[in-house]
Amino acid sequence: MTFENIGLSQELLRAVAQQGYDQPTAIQAQAIPAVLGGGDVMASAQTGTGKTAAFTLPLLQRLSDTAPQQGQRRIRALVLTPTRELAAQVSESVATYGRHLPLRSTEIYGGAPMGKQTAALRRGVDIVVATPGRLIDHLDRGNVDLRHVDMLILDEADRMLDMGFKPAIERILKSVPNQRQTLLFSATFSGAVGGLARRFLNEPTVIEA
Ligand code: AMP
Repeated sequence: MTFENIGLSQELLRAVAQQGYDQPTAIQAQAIPAVLGGGDVMASAQTGTGKTAAFTLPLLQRLSDTAPQQGQRRIRALVLTPTRELAAQVSESVATYGRHLPLRSTEIYGGAPMGKQTAALRRGVDIVVATPGRLIDHLDRGNVDLRHVDMLILDEADRMLDMGFKPAIERILKSVPNQRQTLLFSATFSGAVGGLARRFLNEPTVIEA
């Protein structure tokens, strides 16, 4: 499997080449075609396996395939991560891989002022990368509209559950449409992660890289 025949657009292939990647990692080779196909995916992957690009590249492609008209920018993809550090890292990957695409993203996490985040949301973004607690704060204040989300990514789902984010995740899941594509990435498939997957994923392709 090469990046050229995995089904990515020219804009994404250029960004990948600029990163100096020669070939997809094992998780990327399996996850990218599955996500491009539109179905739900449940993948076990440790940090360092290239898991971020495994969901970010096809996410960017699917959003750019249905690029909005000017002025109609709505949140169409939501990535949930357990920590501020991971949110910042995923956000940076979105910016790097999406550098040749007309998509906008922002990150929402605790320990940073609400005002700047609110302003970014008001300007309009296609992609939000968020930690669950701070996203709930914005939901409670009416700052964020998740009714047009059609891709939801749970990154490091096991860590989010370990950190007590289950109620927050359940609330966020109630605020997004049922008709959506859901991707779940986790280092382990513990009982709790399986429970989350059974409730929120629809006949997922299961990938163990
Ligand atoms: P991650 O597992 O997403 O934290 O990624 C680990 C590291 O692998 C990051 O520094 C990426 O830039 C790098 N990486 C991701 N995909 C590839 C690839 N196909 N070839 C080489 N390096 C990669």
